[in-house]
Amino acid sequence: MSYDIHSLKAEDFIDDGEIRQTVRYAQEHKNDRALIDEILQRARARKGLNHRDASVLLACEDEEKLQEIYALAEQIKKDFYGNRIVLFAPLYLSNYCVNGCLYCPYHLKNKHIPRKKLTQEEVAREVVALQDMGHKRLAIEAGEDPVNNPIEYILECIQTIYSIKHKNGAIRRVNVNIAATTVENYRKLREAGIGTYILFQETYNKENYEILHPTGPKHNYAYHTEAMDRAMEGGIDDVGIGVLFGLDNYQYEFAGLLMHAEHLEAVHGVGPHTISLPRVKRADGIDPDEFDNSLSDETFSKIAACIRIAVPYTGMIISTRETPEVREKLLRVGVSQISGGSRTSVGGYCEEQRPRDTEQFDVSDERTLDEVVNWLIQAGYIPSFCTACYREGRTGDRFMALCKSGQIQNCCQPNALMTLKEYLMDYAADDTRVHGEALIERELANVPREKIRDIVRQRLVKISAGERDFRF
Ligand code: SAM
Repeated sequence: MSYDIHSLKAEDFIDDGEIRQTVRYAQEHKNDRALIDEILQRARARKGLNHRDASVLLACEDEEKLQEIYALAEQIKKDFYGNRIVLFAPLYLSNYCVNGCLYCPYHLKNKHIPRKKLTQEEVAREVVALQDMGHKRLAIEAGEDPVNNPIEYILECIQTIYSIKHKNGAIRRVNVNIAATTVENYRKLREAGIGTYILFQETYNKENYEILHPTGPKHNYAYHTEAMDRAMEGGIDDVGIGVLFGLDNYQYEFAGLLMHAEHLEAVHGVGPHTISLPRVKRADGIDPDEFDNSLSDETFSKIAACIRIAVPYTGMIISTRETPEVREKLLRVGVSQISGGSRTSVGGYCEEQRPRDTEQFDVSDERTLDEVVNWLIQAGYIPSFCTACYREGRTGDRFMALCKSGQIQNCCQPNALMTLKEYLMDYAADDTRVHGEALIERELANVPREKIRDIVRQRLVKISAGERDFRF
């Protein structure tokens, strides 16, 4: 077998030999200042880098060059995303699961975790609780269980979620993180109006993948790795990939992740919409120290910076698995979306106290959504509840084309400000509102076109008067 970016076979487009050669090449050149300069020079064109070049940057240990890498990542982040940060929350539907993933507390053999699956009434109650926090965008999560969580159940939940209109609230985008499935099921998800289909690879190392997933349908490496091709065949053009850092050697995962992105772009004409950066966390019966590939916060930031440089148009997501300190670091070098006020247990949003018994993993950022919004504002970011692109049909290659032309700035900045204004009017604490209003006033100046700026001003007045859901 040899590396073939266009092949639809997992072991060809994630070729183990190519990854190992890449990691070796990066190690050999990690102190090659001339090569690093040349790669950085190319990266400044903001057209991205391939997995080999990006791996050299990741391996770099030269302090001066590292500072250049971070500075470039920060600059690319500013150019493409400004200071906007999109907010979302996970919604756990069911922790029934037939898989045997060694790192996940939902695995079949875990007999002491209470199993729970939300009824549609419970989904509705969770959604009301999430709307009352101010959320507009969710990522639904479920274990894999064809009997308890069949696709019909997931589709029914999506329908329920979109149907709830509580006070001024609405969930306007539902992203879906469920196990790899068939083209037919992906088509059904698309028809249900999902945003992004998210599936983490967990690890790109096939040998280790099979050890970490000893039983259940997820054991099949090829079926899992080829899922995004099936999703795209089913008409889903926004897909989100990621690895669970800590399971395997991070250099290997980094190269695999970028090769996956390159493959999707080469075959389907559009790369992943997002890349998530989860790290293994402590959970019921799960000790992250058992996986001896843990990485330091420093290395984690370096990974984020190198991804930002390699795929400038791909959103990057960090969850509440990470502490506020780590999240702040990663926001600076490339992350564009974060979760806030998350509960990782089934039915957790309706509980007064944070429930621990059905949690998928320990949350390291336990702040409320309003605390996260306030923190972002004070750190100079615009918290955005925007969901406009996908609702305006700007998905897949249409989104990427707009992004590449720079025109996205005329949509994103106004949409961020208008959705923040809605949040401030409907959900914010007094202090958040005061700082948020000042931020909106300041940031209006950064809407590039004057005509659009005027429209935004008018719409902000209308939002104050009670109108909702404006978008460009
Ligand atoms: N069941 C679906 C699947 O098989 O892909 C996805 C849903 S699962 C709730 C979402 C993700 O949580 C998994 O893909 C995995 O990467 C992550 N996860 C599982 N256990 C974890 C742990 N102990 N710490 C951090 N993340 C974990």
